[in-house]
Amino acid sequence: MKAAPFDYLRASSLDEAIEALAETPDARVLAGGQSLVPLLNLRQVRPPLVVDINRLDGLSFLHKENGRLEIGALTRHRVVETSAVVHSEVPLLAEALGYVGHVAIRNRGTIGGSLAHADPAAELPAVMVALDAEFRVHGPEGERLITARDFFLGPHRTALGPGELLTRISVPSHRGGSAVEELSRRSRDLALVAVFATVTMSGGVCETARIAIAGAAPTPIRATAAEESLTGRALTADAIAAAADLAAGATDPPGDLHAPADYRREMVAVLTRRAITRAKEGA
Ligand SMILES: Cc1cc2nc3c(=O)[nH]c(=O)nc-3n(C[C@H](O)[C@H](O)[C@H](O)COP(=O)(O)OP(=O)(O)OC[C@H]3O[C@@H](n4cnc5c(N)ncnc54)[C@H](O)[C@@H]3O)c2cc1C
Repeated sequence: MKAAPFDYLRASSLDEAIEALAETPDARVLAGGQSLVPLLNLRQVRPPLVVDINRLDGLSFLHKENGRLEIGALTRHRVVETSAVVHSEVPLLAEALGYVGHVAIRNRGTIGGSLAHADPAAELPAVMVALDAEFRVHGPEGERLITARDFFLGPHRTALGPGELLTRISVPSHRGGSAVEELSRRSRDLALVAVFATVTMSGGVCETARIAIAGAAPTPIRATAAEESLTGRALTADAIAAAADLAAGATDPPGDLHAPADYRREMVAVLTRRAITRAKEGA
């Protein structure tokens, strides 16, 4: 199938892109095209206008600044995945990117595109929720910051308003250990469920634990009760198992032909146990 007809604008400035998006309801942004183009060709979306942002070079960058990783929305997955600074400052992000499709997809797909697409089973939204990232967006009213936790509103729904573009992702560096554990039907498919964890330890006791889950609710979620149960405690097998059960209890997974809801919930417990154990070993 081929896409329904649409107008095409190759934006040459951020202002031009924002103006066009604000003037045309239902217009779509073309970044890496790895989600948008299949949706167009299947006619699951029929935007009147596609605004191509690939010439906006100012949206493509990656550097460390004040203890944070600053990433331009148009930066390709593969650039981030293979960056030495990402491996040293935010290893959870580098590990998670290895699960996003295949290399050919990661060569084109962008960090901003994955976040704006807001697939509940995708890795990057959950990683950003785990890491308490902040998103800078530009729109007709100027710019504003949105926390990752406030950004995802539902499947393919975000806090982006009409005419707003995601431009920059700011991720705090993290100390300690981290781990991604994912279950999918085939290697590098979208997750049935996935767990993203970071742990810091001090004197044999857990100082902080962060756990985010993908594929188990309409948006990525933080398992806060599980995190609190680990904080200030030795991470024994029993403590980790109890936290894993709390994490599973916080989910509201969908059931479909790929996996029933109960199975996904059970897998959240298994993957949380593995992720916390591995993150502790690296801490
Ligand atoms: C075979 C295959 C396997 C895949 N497997 C996975 C996987 O395992 N995990 C995973 O997470 N993803 C997977 N993907 C999706 C892939 O990661 C996409 O690259 C990503 O979802 C979208 O990024 P993009 O840059 O290609 O965005 P595009 O496809 O260009 O755009 C996606 C959506 O985001 C909007 N958008 C894009 N950029 C912005 C912006 N800066 N501001 C506001 N809105 C914007 C667009 O309007 C559009 O609605 C897969 C894709 C394919 C084709």
